[in-house]
Amino acid sequence: MLHANIERAAVLPGGPGPAGVFGTRRILVTGGAGFLGSHLCERLIGEGHEVICLDNFQTGQERNLRQLSGHPRFELIRHDVAEPFSVEADEIYNLACPASPPHYQADPIHTLKTSVLGALNVLELARTTGAKVFQASTSEVYGDPHMHPQPESYWGHVNPIGPRSCYDEGKRCAETLFFDYARRHDVRIKIVRIFNTYGPGMHPEDGRVVSNFIVQALKGEDITIYGDGSQTRSFCFVHDLIDGFVRLMNSGPEVTGPVNIGNPGEFTMLELASLVVDLVNSPSRVVFRPLPTDDPRQRRPDISRADAALGWKPRVQLADGLRMTISYFDALLRETATAATP
Ligand code: NAD
Ligand code: UDP
Repeated sequence: MLHANIERAAVLPGGPGPAGVFGTRRILVTGGAGFLGSHLCERLIGEGHEVICLDNFQTGQERNLRQLSGHPRFELIRHDVAEPFSVEADEIYNLACPASPPHYQADPIHTLKTSVLGALNVLELARTTGAKVFQASTSEVYGDPHMHPQPESYWGHVNPIGPRSCYDEGKRCAETLFFDYARRHDVRIKIVRIFNTYGPGMHPEDGRVVSNFIVQALKGEDITIYGDGSQTRSFCFVHDLIDGFVRLMNSGPEVTGPVNIGNPGEFTMLELASLVVDLVNSPSRVVFRPLPTDDPRQRRPDISRADAALGWKPRVQLADGLRMTISYFDALLRETATAATP
């Protein structure tokens, strides 16, 4: 039973689908077995495209590909994006990279290689094949921002030598490479700066705040707030984000990005904890743990560019998105408990 996929894609069509005015395309998604990548693969298959997922399963899950594996227009390649590869594709979405702080800090040198060499490899592929190439960048390029909310014109406030630097600086370097390939080699580029995103398909041990709080609340365990909980984040539901991705990829050549995609609703971690506890109706208590080094104080996207260039705005309110995510984790935990019962 696919309980854990209940809030995910509907049935995926098998034959050539209604790919719209842009026609059916062959699309490479690196990191396609991850949280965002698997939603993107489902969306693209649903639109009738051929999708090739390249992933080394560092943080990706087979479970995320259940709906896709065996589909006639879906192909999986196990490969590290930091090692050169060759794939025929019209478009490339480069998502491969661990996104959760505990995961990207577990092997920081490999994280940096993934961002930098991964970007070089997809850009070389795009240069030689003429493919359009999309980079999943991040709000982390703004670091611990001094400007609030953050517009794309803000250059950021990033520590180049801290424990988060492997991720932040890797993503900044990838953006530089994208723009140099566009200027030098006329490669068609698209860069999105993603703000904190949540939804069904997250790994229960991912370590990010939404998955931690929901799993803790469902299990009746303590809710771990790092620091005093006054730091803020803006949380975007995954379907809204993926819609922004596709709009950006399909936009005209004048729209290269970077474009912020995120939900401007801003919440403290204390507010998030209280909302999750209420929605789950959980007996969990809040406990305080040390704030990680260089943890940004505040974060909220200025989405004027996404609105003007792509006609994009988020539609899902935090409480509604959390309800869908809670039912996904609830089903997942029940499925895991049933599987563990002798
Ligand atoms: P995730 O960890 O769930 O998925 C990342 C995927 O990339 C996994 O399937 C993993 O196995 C794969 N991967 C990692 N290193 C790889 C490598 N060297 N070669 C091949 N595959 C590799 O993370 P996610 O939340 O789906 O994030 C996807 C992308 O979006 C990442 O690039 C991340 O930096 C970016 N992003 C995500 C968020 C967010 O809130 N989810 C925010 C900002 C940016
Ligand atoms: N956080 C928390 N408890 C947790 C996990 C995270 O209070 O169990 C905090 C974390 O310190 C940060 C915020 O929640 O201030 C968002 O953390 P996350 O790892 O989800 O994303 P990022 O820091 O990369 O924005």
